[in-house]
Amino acid sequence: MRQRIRKGILAFSMLMFPLTFFLLSPYVIILSASTGVINGSAMVFGSLFLFSFLFSRIYCGWLCPGGAVQDMISGANKRNWNSKGKNVSKYIIWAVWFSLILLLWMKHLPLKGDFLFLYKFDGHYIMIYTIVMTIIYLFAISTGRRGMCHSLCWMAPFMVIGETVSDFLHIPRFRLKPKPDACVSCGKCTKECPMGLDISRMVKSGNTDSTECISCLACVDICPKHAIGFGISQKRSHSLEQETILRKKEN
Ligand code: SF4
Ligand code: SF4
Repeated sequence: MRQRIRKGILAFSMLMFPLTFFLLSPYVIILSASTGVINGSAMVFGSLFLFSFLFSRIYCGWLCPGGAVQDMISGANKRNWNSKGKNVSKYIIWAVWFSLILLLWMKHLPLKGDFLFLYKFDGHYIMIYTIVMTIIYLFAISTGRRGMCHSLCWMAPFMVIGETVSDFLHIPRFRLKPKPDACVSCGKCTKECPMGLDISRMVKSGNTDSTECISCLACVDICPKHAIGFGISQKRSHSLEQETILRKKEN
């Protein structure tokens, strides 16, 4: 039931994408910064950064229209696209892109806010929307499941940095809670994970924290042994295995 609701929300978000596209654009923010404006997409990215302090990457798993598009066509290429090498490219792209935006803002001080900067639903808008959608389709089909989230997404680093800051400040946030003793290593969760994470192994290790996890809860809902819980909690300093070893040493 929960996964049906999630997919319904994602489908709605995808339908609304022609309207919200402007507010998620990595290009319009550059145009706005070059005229000293903090536009709608800058405000959305800032909100996602703050949102992730408490709610991790729930946006990616439950709301993102780009994620919805990728999930919809994941049947065309079910390959997992998840490795350190593949994940790092989005941070490099993000660092160059966001540095440019910061430089432009600094050059055009004082800044002013304009949520609907350049928003005009015309032929030009539809053309850019079509190009972006084509890129998402082609990228996801040629890479694999949520390939764009892993390698290209300009929004994910805001949330990963938010999660890291949150953990550094010991702020409790949304995370999975493994129960290694309940897990029978059937592998169903790993097969179900849209991000291609080896969640089965992570549950067994007692540490399910991952910057690539989008909190979709597909693994939680598929597990026949209820070996994965979730909730808002602080980062654990040690995995269960490590804690067990430490406890044994203490005794
Ligand atoms: S689905 Fe549940 S029991 Fe099976 S491997 Fe995953 S956590 Fe373990
Ligand atoms: S580990 Fe679980 S919650 Fe995280 S992305 Fe994979 S299926 Fe979703």
